[in-house]
Amino acid sequence: MHKARKRFGQNFLVDQTIINHIVRSIYPKPDDALVEIGPGKGALTAPLLEACKKLQVIELDRDLIPILLAQFVRYKDFKIHQADALKFDFTSLIQEDKALRVVGNLPYNISTPLIFHLLSFGDKIRDMHFMLQREVVLRLAAQPGDKNYGKLSVMTQYHCAVSHLFDVPPESFRPAPKVDSAIVRLEPYSEKPLVATDPNHLETLVGTAFQQRRKTLRNALRSYEDDIVALGDAIEIDFSLRAENLSVADFVSLSNALAGCNN
Ligand code: SAM
Repeated sequence: MHKARKRFGQNFLVDQTIINHIVRSIYPKPDDALVEIGPGKGALTAPLLEACKKLQVIELDRDLIPILLAQFVRYKDFKIHQADALKFDFTSLIQEDKALRVVGNLPYNISTPLIFHLLSFGDKIRDMHFMLQREVVLRLAAQPGDKNYGKLSVMTQYHCAVSHLFDVPPESFRPAPKVDSAIVRLEPYSEKPLVATDPNHLETLVGTAFQQRRKTLRNALRSYEDDIVALGDAIEIDFSLRAENLSVADFVSLSNALAGCNN
Protein backbone atom coordinates (compact mmCIF):
# COMPACT_ATOMS: atom_id res chain seq x y z
CA MET A 1 0.00 0.00 0.00
CA HIS A 2 1.35 3.43 -0.96
CA LYS A 3 0.90 6.09 1.73
CA ALA A 4 0.35 9.68 0.53
CA ARG A 5 3.41 11.83 1.19
CA LYS A 6 2.97 15.42 2.26
CA ARG A 7 6.41 16.53 1.11
CA PHE A 8 5.53 15.48 -2.46
CA GLY A 9 2.23 17.37 -2.27
CA GLN A 10 0.27 14.15 -2.72
CA ASN A 11 -3.49 14.73 -2.77
CA PHE A 12 -4.88 12.05 -5.04
CA LEU A 13 -8.01 12.69 -7.10
CA VAL A 14 -10.84 10.30 -6.25
CA ASP A 15 -13.90 12.04 -7.71
CA GLN A 16 -14.71 10.41 -11.05
CA THR A 17 -17.05 13.25 -12.13
CA ILE A 18 -14.26 15.79 -11.67
CA ILE A 19 -11.73 13.49 -13.39
CA ASN A 20 -14.07 13.21 -16.42
CA HIS A 21 -14.62 16.96 -16.44
CA ILE A 22 -10.86 17.61 -16.47
CA VAL A 23 -10.24 15.14 -19.29
CA ARG A 24 -13.12 16.62 -21.33
CA SER A 25 -11.59 20.08 -20.87
CA ILE A 26 -8.19 18.83 -22.07
CA TYR A 27 -9.92 17.14 -25.04
CA PRO A 28 -6.99 14.82 -25.87
CA LYS A 29 -6.71 13.54 -29.44
CA PRO A 30 -4.94 10.30 -30.48
CA ASP A 31 -2.07 12.21 -32.15
CA ASP A 32 -1.38 14.65 -29.31
CA ALA A 33 2.04 14.79 -27.65
CA LEU A 34 0.71 14.54 -24.10
CA VAL A 35 2.85 14.94 -21.00
CA GLU A 36 1.54 14.47 -17.47
CA ILE A 37 3.39 15.91 -14.48
CA GLY A 38 2.90 13.97 -11.23
CA PRO A 39 0.72 11.04 -12.36
CA GLY A 40 0.54 9.73 -8.79
CA LYS A 41 -1.49 6.52 -8.81
CA GLY A 42 -2.87 7.21 -12.28
CA ALA A 43 -6.25 8.89 -11.65
CA LEU A 44 -5.84 11.12 -14.73
CA THR A 45 -3.31 8.89 -16.49
CA ALA A 46 -5.86 6.11 -17.13
CA PRO A 47 -8.48 8.19 -19.01
CA LEU A 48 -5.72 10.14 -20.80
CA LEU A 49 -4.20 6.88 -22.06
CA GLU A 50 -7.62 5.72 -23.25
CA ALA A 51 -7.92 8.84 -25.41
CA CYS A 52 -4.32 9.18 -26.50
CA LYS A 53 -2.16 6.07 -26.55
CA LYS A 54 1.04 8.11 -26.43
CA LEU A 55 1.73 9.58 -23.03
CA GLN A 56 4.90 10.52 -21.19
CA VAL A 57 4.77 11.12 -17.46
CA ILE A 58 7.21 12.71 -15.01
CA GLU A 59 6.96 11.45 -11.43
CA LEU A 60 9.34 12.24 -8.57
CA ASP A 61 8.22 9.58 -6.05
CA ARG A 62 10.16 6.38 -6.80
CA ASP A 63 7.65 4.27 -4.86
CA LEU A 64 4.89 5.14 -7.35
CA ILE A 65 6.82 3.91 -10.40
CA PRO A 66 6.08 0.15 -9.96
CA ILE A 67 2.39 0.96 -9.33
CA LEU A 68 2.20 2.94 -12.58
CA LEU A 69 4.15 0.32 -14.53
CA ALA A 70 1.89 -2.50 -13.37
CA GLN A 71 -1.25 -0.54 -14.16
CA PHE A 72 -0.28 0.65 -17.64
CA VAL A 73 2.11 -2.03 -18.90
CA ARG A 74 -0.16 -2.84 -21.86
CA TYR A 75 0.31 0.62 -23.42
CA LYS A 76 3.49 0.38 -25.47
CA ASP A 77 3.79 4.15 -25.96
CA PHE A 78 3.50 4.94 -22.25
CA LYS A 79 6.78 6.25 -20.91
CA ILE A 80 7.69 7.07 -17.31
CA HIS A 81 10.46 9.53 -16.41
CA GLN A 82 11.36 9.27 -12.73
CA ALA A 83 12.52 12.86 -12.27
CA ASP A 84 11.94 16.27 -10.72
CA ALA A 85 9.70 18.27 -13.10
CA LEU A 86 11.25 21.51 -11.80
CA LYS A 87 14.62 20.52 -13.27
CA PHE A 88 13.34 18.61 -16.26
CA ASP A 89 14.34 19.54 -19.81
CA PHE A 90 10.94 19.40 -21.55
CA THR A 91 12.54 19.76 -25.01
CA SER A 92 13.88 16.21 -24.49
CA LEU A 93 10.27 14.96 -24.78
CA ILE A 94 9.66 16.44 -28.23
CA GLN A 95 9.14 13.95 -31.02
CA GLU A 96 8.54 14.79 -34.68
CA ASP A 97 8.66 18.49 -33.81
CA LYS A 98 5.25 18.32 -32.18
CA ALA A 99 4.48 20.93 -29.49
CA LEU A 100 3.66 19.37 -26.12
CA ARG A 101 0.34 19.37 -24.31
CA VAL A 102 1.24 19.39 -20.62
CA VAL A 103 -1.26 18.42 -17.92
CA GLY A 104 -1.19 17.70 -14.22
CA ASN A 105 -2.75 17.86 -10.82
CA LEU A 106 0.28 19.68 -9.53
CA PRO A 107 1.87 19.51 -6.10
CA TYR A 108 0.80 22.91 -4.75
CA ASN A 109 4.10 23.66 -3.05
CA ILE A 110 5.96 23.86 -6.39
CA SER A 111 3.24 25.10 -8.74
CA THR A 112 4.46 28.70 -9.24
CA PRO A 113 8.16 27.88 -9.93
CA LEU A 114 7.02 24.99 -12.13
CA ILE A 115 4.84 27.29 -14.26
CA PHE A 116 7.76 29.72 -14.68
CA HIS A 117 10.03 26.77 -15.60
CA LEU A 118 7.49 25.61 -18.21
CA LEU A 119 7.05 29.12 -19.64
CA SER A 120 10.77 29.12 -20.43
CA PHE A 121 10.09 26.39 -23.04
CA GLY A 122 7.92 28.86 -24.99
CA ASP A 123 6.79 27.57 -28.36
CA LYS A 124 7.62 23.94 -27.51
CA ILE A 125 4.38 23.83 -25.50
CA ARG A 126 0.96 24.02 -27.16
CA ASP A 127 -1.10 24.23 -24.00
CA MET A 128 -1.17 23.36 -20.31
CA HIS A 129 -4.04 22.25 -18.08
CA PHE A 130 -3.34 22.28 -14.38
CA MET A 131 -5.10 21.71 -11.12
CA LEU A 132 -3.81 24.36 -8.75
CA GLN A 133 -4.74 26.01 -5.52
CA ARG A 134 -7.76 28.17 -6.44
CA GLU A 135 -6.04 31.24 -5.03
CA VAL A 136 -3.14 30.76 -7.47
CA VAL A 137 -5.56 30.40 -10.42
CA LEU A 138 -7.23 33.68 -9.35
CA ARG A 139 -3.81 35.35 -9.38
CA LEU A 140 -2.89 33.88 -12.78
CA ALA A 141 -6.12 35.10 -14.40
CA ALA A 142 -6.53 38.44 -12.55
CA GLN A 143 -7.07 41.66 -14.50
CA PRO A 144 -5.89 45.20 -13.61
CA GLY A 145 -7.75 46.64 -10.63
CA ASP A 146 -8.34 43.20 -9.11
CA LYS A 147 -6.78 42.59 -5.67
CA ASN A 148 -5.27 39.34 -7.00
CA TYR A 149 -3.50 41.14 -9.86
CA GLY A 150 0.29 41.03 -9.40
CA LYS A 151 3.61 39.88 -10.83
CA LEU A 152 2.33 36.33 -11.41
CA SER A 153 -0.66 37.67 -13.43
CA VAL A 154 1.42 40.05 -15.56
CA MET A 155 4.26 37.64 -16.33
CA THR A 156 1.97 34.69 -17.08
CA GLN A 157 -0.37 36.77 -19.26
CA TYR A 158 2.67 38.16 -21.09
CA HIS A 159 3.42 34.59 -22.24
CA CYS A 160 -0.02 32.95 -22.36
CA ALA A 161 -3.75 33.24 -22.70
CA VAL A 162 -5.10 32.23 -19.27
CA SER A 163 -8.54 30.66 -18.66
CA HIS A 164 -9.91 29.77 -15.22
CA LEU A 165 -12.04 26.75 -16.20
CA PHE A 166 -13.76 25.49 -13.02
CA ASP A 167 -13.34 25.00 -9.28
CA VAL A 168 -12.75 21.73 -7.45
CA PRO A 169 -13.68 21.22 -3.77
CA PRO A 170 -11.35 19.55 -1.20
CA GLU A 171 -13.63 16.45 -0.99
CA SER A 172 -12.53 15.44 -4.50
CA PHE A 173 -9.11 14.37 -3.13
CA ARG A 174 -7.63 11.85 -0.67
CA PRO A 175 -6.29 13.15 1.59
CA ALA A 176 -8.43 16.30 1.27
CA PRO A 177 -6.30 19.47 1.00
CA LYS A 178 -7.06 22.41 3.32
CA VAL A 179 -7.73 24.74 0.38
CA ASP A 180 -10.02 24.96 -2.64
CA SER A 181 -8.60 24.03 -6.02
CA ALA A 182 -9.30 25.04 -9.60
CA ILE A 183 -8.44 24.03 -13.15
CA VAL A 184 -6.61 26.52 -15.32
CA ARG A 185 -5.77 26.43 -19.03
CA LEU A 186 -2.60 28.22 -20.18
CA GLU A 187 -2.02 28.63 -23.92
CA PRO A 188 1.42 30.08 -24.74
CA TYR A 189 1.25 32.58 -27.61
CA SER A 190 3.01 31.40 -30.75
CA GLU A 191 3.27 35.08 -31.58
CA LYS A 192 3.10 37.32 -28.55
CA PRO A 193 0.66 40.24 -28.88
CA LEU A 194 3.28 42.46 -27.17
CA VAL A 195 7.00 41.82 -27.28
CA ALA A 196 9.38 42.92 -24.53
CA THR A 197 12.78 43.83 -25.97
CA ASP A 198 14.36 42.54 -22.76
CA PRO A 199 12.14 40.00 -20.92
CA ASN A 200 14.46 40.01 -17.87
CA HIS A 201 14.06 43.78 -17.59
CA LEU A 202 10.28 43.36 -17.78
CA GLU A 203 10.32 40.78 -14.97
CA THR A 204 12.48 42.97 -12.71
CA LEU A 205 10.37 46.08 -13.42
CA VAL A 206 7.09 44.27 -12.70
CA GLY A 207 8.55 42.76 -9.51
CA THR A 208 9.74 46.21 -8.32
CA ALA A 209 6.40 47.87 -9.15
CA PHE A 210 4.39 45.31 -7.15
CA GLN A 211 6.82 45.09 -4.22
CA GLN A 212 5.10 48.13 -2.72
CA ARG A 213 1.72 47.74 -4.34
CA ARG A 214 -0.05 50.35 -2.19
CA LYS A 215 2.34 53.08 -3.34
CA THR A 216 2.02 55.15 -6.49
CA LEU A 217 4.26 54.13 -9.38
CA ARG A 218 6.25 57.33 -8.83
CA ASN A 219 7.27 56.04 -5.40
CA ALA A 220 7.41 52.31 -6.12
CA LEU A 221 9.70 52.90 -9.13
CA ARG A 222 12.17 55.26 -7.40
CA SER A 223 15.09 53.12 -8.58
CA TYR A 224 14.17 53.99 -12.19
CA GLU A 225 13.61 57.70 -11.45
CA ASP A 226 16.51 59.16 -13.50
CA ASP A 227 15.52 57.29 -16.64
CA ILE A 228 11.82 58.13 -16.17
CA VAL A 229 12.67 61.82 -15.87
CA ALA A 230 14.99 61.62 -18.91
CA LEU A 231 12.27 60.00 -21.02
CA GLY A 232 9.69 62.63 -20.01
CA ASP A 233 6.62 62.68 -22.26
CA ALA A 234 7.96 59.78 -24.33
CA ILE A 235 6.35 57.53 -21.67
CA GLU A 236 2.58 57.62 -21.77
CA ILE A 237 2.06 56.28 -18.26
CA ASP A 238 0.40 58.12 -15.40
CA PHE A 239 2.85 57.66 -12.50
CA SER A 240 0.24 58.71 -9.95
CA LEU A 241 -1.42 55.32 -10.56
CA ARG A 242 -0.47 52.13 -8.72
CA ALA A 243 1.08 49.01 -10.27
CA GLU A 244 -2.29 47.24 -9.99
CA ASN A 245 -3.79 49.77 -12.46
CA LEU A 246 -1.33 49.05 -15.30
CA SER A 247 -2.21 46.55 -18.03
CA VAL A 248 0.29 43.99 -19.35
CA ALA A 249 0.65 46.26 -22.43
CA ASP A 250 1.48 49.25 -20.18
CA PHE A 251 4.20 47.26 -18.40
CA VAL A 252 5.69 46.06 -21.68
CA SER A 253 5.79 49.55 -23.20
CA LEU A 254 7.27 51.02 -20.01
CA SER A 255 9.90 48.27 -19.86
CA ASN A 256 10.80 48.75 -23.54
CA ALA A 257 11.22 52.50 -23.05
CA LEU A 258 13.35 52.09 -19.90
CA ALA A 259 15.42 49.19 -21.29
CA GLY A 260 16.24 51.46 -24.27
CA CYS A 261 17.71 54.03 -21.85
CA ASN A 262 20.39 51.63 -20.70
CA ASN A 263 21.75 50.92 -24.18
N1 SAM B 1 -2.14 12.98 -10.67
C1 SAM B 1 -2.41 12.32 -9.41
C2 SAM B 1 -3.87 12.54 -9.04
O1 SAM B 1 -4.47 13.47 -9.58
O2 SAM B 1 -4.38 11.78 -8.23
C3 SAM B 1 -1.48 12.82 -8.29
C4 SAM B 1 -1.52 14.30 -8.01
S1 SAM B 1 -0.61 14.80 -6.57
C5 SAM B 1 -1.42 16.34 -6.20
C6 SAM B 1 0.95 15.40 -7.18
C7 SAM B 1 1.87 14.37 -7.80
O3 SAM B 1 3.10 15.01 -8.22
C8 SAM B 1 2.30 13.26 -6.84
O4 SAM B 1 2.24 12.02 -7.51
C9 SAM B 1 3.76 13.60 -6.47
O5 SAM B 1 4.53 12.49 -6.13
C10 SAM B 1 4.24 14.25 -7.76
N2 SAM B 1 5.34 15.20 -7.59
C11 SAM B 1 5.63 15.97 -6.51
N3 SAM B 1 6.69 16.76 -6.74
C12 SAM B 1 7.09 16.49 -8.01
C13 SAM B 1 8.14 16.98 -8.83
N4 SAM B 1 8.99 17.92 -8.39
N5 SAM B 1 8.27 16.47 -10.09
C14 SAM B 1 7.40 15.51 -10.55
N6 SAM B 1 6.40 15.01 -9.80
C15 SAM B 1 6.24 15.49 -8.56
